[in-house]
Amino acid sequence: MDNNGNNNNNNETKTDFAAITGASVKQPRAKYQDNVQVALGELKDQVQKRNTRAYGRKPDRQEGPAVRNDNPVRSDRRDQRDQRDQRDTRGPDNRGRSQGPRDQRDQRRSKVAFGRDVFVPHQIAQGSSPNASTSNWLSTRVPVLHPDKNLAYTGTLRIISIGGVGNVNKNMYIYEYGEDIVILDCGIGFADEDMPGVDFLIPDITYLQDKKHKVRGILHTHGHEDHIGALPYIWPELKCPIYASKLTCGFIKTKLVEHELPIDQIVEIDPDVALTLGSFHFQFFKLSHSIPDTIGFVIDTPVGRVIHSADFKFDWTPVIGAPTDVQRIAQFGADGVLLLLSDSLGAEKPGYTLSEQVILSQFDAVAQKTLGKMMITTTSSNISRIQMALDIAAKYGKKVAVSGRSMDQNIGVARNMGYLKFSDENFVPLEEIGRYQDNELLLIVAGSQGQYEAALSRVANDEHRHIKLRPGDSVVFSTDAIPGNENQTNRLIDHLISRGAEVYYSNIFNNIHVSGHAAQEELKLMLALVKAKYLLPIGGTERSTKKYGDLAQSMGYRKEQVLITHNGDIVEFSAQKDQIVTPRTVGKIETKDVMVDGLGIGDLSEAVMHDRQVMAEEGMLVVIVRVNHETGAAQSGVQIVSRGFVYMKESSEFINDIARLVDDILDEEKNSSQDWNVLKRKIEDRVSKYIYKEIKRNPLILPVMYEV
Ligand SMILES: [Zn+2]
Repeated sequence: MDNNGNNNNNNETKTDFAAITGASVKQPRAKYQDNVQVALGELKDQVQKRNTRAYGRKPDRQEGPAVRNDNPVRSDRRDQRDQRDQRDTRGPDNRGRSQGPRDQRDQRRSKVAFGRDVFVPHQIAQGSSPNASTSNWLSTRVPVLHPDKNLAYTGTLRIISIGGVGNVNKNMYIYEYGEDIVILDCGIGFADEDMPGVDFLIPDITYLQDKKHKVRGILHTHGHEDHIGALPYIWPELKCPIYASKLTCGFIKTKLVEHELPIDQIVEIDPDVALTLGSFHFQFFKLSHSIPDTIGFVIDTPVGRVIHSADFKFDWTPVIGAPTDVQRIAQFGADGVLLLLSDSLGAEKPGYTLSEQVILSQFDAVAQKTLGKMMITTTSSNISRIQMALDIAAKYGKKVAVSGRSMDQNIGVARNMGYLKFSDENFVPLEEIGRYQDNELLLIVAGSQGQYEAALSRVANDEHRHIKLRPGDSVVFSTDAIPGNENQTNRLIDHLISRGAEVYYSNIFNNIHVSGHAAQEELKLMLALVKAKYLLPIGGTERSTKKYGDLAQSMGYRKEQVLITHNGDIVEFSAQKDQIVTPRTVGKIETKDVMVDGLGIGDLSEAVMHDRQVMAEEGMLVVIVRVNHETGAAQSGVQIVSRGFVYMKESSEFINDIARLVDDILDEEKNSSQDWNVLKRKIEDRVSKYIYKEIKRNPLILPVMYEV
């Protein structure tokens, strides 16, 4: 068979890429499944060939670059020959043929034709892996997914985490290829204790300012706040379609309506139906997490296949929904994966995360012990946990009331969509709980993170309008503190205990909360199923990200196959002449914390925040200077006001000294014709130094000048 013949063959049997993967979300499922069958058949053939070639040799034989690189020219020629061979493999008449000379030659060859080499398995065998036998399993290659070779492996894929790497929340990932951008997740971050008055943080989308026209959509993995919460603030800037699975769509709709934004751009994802957005072709798989309808993404790009799996665990008996679809993940993995982005939050925890089911018996145990009201607090979007609370209420014939706006809202959405099973008549409005005995009530109360304004804090402070804490009441914390938020949660627990409640929380009561995130052995399972060439850990802390990398290396990944990144890092995969270039971090974009404070978005500059921090820690001192409006000269007799700094009455002498100092400054400066701002800075500077010298404190100094 000559080259031309092969080419023709190739054309005849060329697979329609759009058909394999389903060209649009509207494609009928039956047709899509047919196409998938065809595609799978072809891929199976290819994989078989590949396996024969990749594994059908003596294991100790070195192959790959060591042979290939000895002579670059020869190596190039081999590459060309390999590409011709690849075309050979596509013809149906090549299938099932007996081992001819060509096959034997293929087997001798260092480079396998199929997959035009995105990666060379033998490099791994030669690498720094501690154990060659553990690295063999990774000997997979990334196939050419686009049959049209003109489209295959060209251009540059850029991936940027605007949030979600190193700081757990505020998840938002940009995928950019040519004129197309897709965004994965759009979550909020939680303010630290050193951000007084800040409600939450949202990702900084400055990078997208001049690229809005490229954005084809925002896709969501699941309905947690740190994955969808920033939409009402960011969507108005982008005005692109929003894609999410059913329940996530429900939560998103509620959010947008609340912010008086249109909802006509929301598109529901059916995990069984593919979706093409520009250069990105999406398929989906189900994941278990602590919220139903969590999905992972398989993204075929012109540079290779990427699997994006945000929060997940392998829960074989989830309370609601399906277990993680390992079969589908393995199928996607078998086709060859360039890069896996994967949730790393649980990477420090050994073993497996327990199933949500274990919590039910713990809730039951608490219900049996509780003489008064039973209160359960959890994250407001933890629908599975809420279902278990409802199950316990049903078992013991308790009425259920809900306190907390977002909790109420989420439960409403989930009930309307059929996710929560509980009879309507057993829900009672909060204002009517007084009609029932305490032991007839189960209350679902928001504020598990100790948020100051939330319902549970108000209960603890005896400021809640309807819920009064009494001896015999129990409070179940079915949640863990968000990293960095532990103090706040602990204070709330202490407070509730001091008020006589029986409090059940993770440290003292096993399995009252299980993580929604995969632990070490599950992360290894994901790596083994996907077999990606590169791993990019996301959704964790600096520590967990690093640990995930260590786990991967223990399984045979080399250091350079684990991409440890930080928010703002621009990671690029480039393809030229069918060769994937090693990913590189080509730069970093600035990603500020955009703070949302009341109705203001991003109007809190660092200066404002600095002032708030200083005021919170050291108090403030206002120096009021009157200026004669005719002469422009400052008048003597300045006024000093202080807040949170010193008690004025007891420090009157010290305050007088400061006033005299300011008078002296004004006197010294009276002949210099400088503007007020300069004078203010001088006052600020010298007063600040004086106070520090006298009492070693650094309050915020605020000079105010006004004309009289
Ligand atoms: Zn989550």
